[in-house]
Amino acid sequence: MAFEKRLKHLKSCVYIGGPRSVVAAFLALGHDGAWPSSTAQNQLARINPRRHPRCVKLFIMTDLEGVAGVINGADWLYPTGRYYETAKRFLTNEINAAIRAFTDHGFDEIVVADGHGAGAVNIELLDRRAKLIRGWGPVVRPFGLDRSFHAMAYVGQHAKAGTPFSHLTHTGWWDVRDQRLNGVSIGEYGEGAFGAGELGVPLIFASGELAFTKEVAALTPWVVTASVLEGTIGGSGDELSGEEYERFHEGALHLHPEAANDLIEIRARESVQLFAKDRQRFKLLKLDPPYRLECDTRSYRGKAGATSVKEHPDSILGLWKCQQ
Ligand SMILES: [Zn+2]
Repeated sequence: MAFEKRLKHLKSCVYIGGPRSVVAAFLALGHDGAWPSSTAQNQLARINPRRHPRCVKLFIMTDLEGVAGVINGADWLYPTGRYYETAKRFLTNEINAAIRAFTDHGFDEIVVADGHGAGAVNIELLDRRAKLIRGWGPVVRPFGLDRSFHAMAYVGQHAKAGTPFSHLTHTGWWDVRDQRLNGVSIGEYGEGAFGAGELGVPLIFASGELAFTKEVAALTPWVVTASVLEGTIGGSGDELSGEEYERFHEGALHLHPEAANDLIEIRARESVQLFAKDRQRFKLLKLDPPYRLECDTRSYRGKAGATSVKEHPDSILGLWKCQQ
């Protein structure tokens, strides 16, 4: 069956938190608020998308550095920053813009992964049709993704460490200079894209800074992108220590946050329309095994830079992660 027809076919799925689940919760509790009867529990199970085999599921990976209006590290990226809560609001609004597009065009279940180190999604402001995932045990990108998802998207992402004219760019943390998977230089996006490829989940949409969307186009040209800011500082910064590199790519030309939301919604709509029309257009990013990950670090917090190597006979996901 064509995916477009399948999307329609699968529309019986219901959002957790949507009106029907309120009804179901009422049914489950009964008029006296008693513990759910087994019949009522069965009713809940039937409409619970996690147990519903026919949901069309989308996974959204997020980060903070590629969000329009997030200006620098000290003020915007950390809980100690004076604009940290504003940054979280900006990111959550961008995610919501993407969710509007995806839910309008057939995705029934949306899971949002908060991929920023200190956390950056404001769950109170997050579209109620989405669920938030945070806390995934050992750090493995893409965080929390599994084979049950039909597609994946990125919002707020930055380019890989050392990219000229990028913004607040790094790979995992400020101490990584470069990492190569079977010789291919990759950042956080590459980790996620190869991980998703191994899990059989196609990437359809990615928003963030311009340097990031160029990275997306180079690795996965079929992914629809939206650039919401453009880095103004050239150079790779490869010669810098981790402490110096943290403050190196701190200059960008930003869209107004509301204009960024509009652009994300428009481009996300395009991506899901293309996906519904021709699923095969969205390929899986793969490399032939065995896998070898080389990681170069900078000097950082008194530790000298070094190169480490990890190898795995048949799994990219088995390789992560190589930071100090
Ligand atoms: Zn990041």
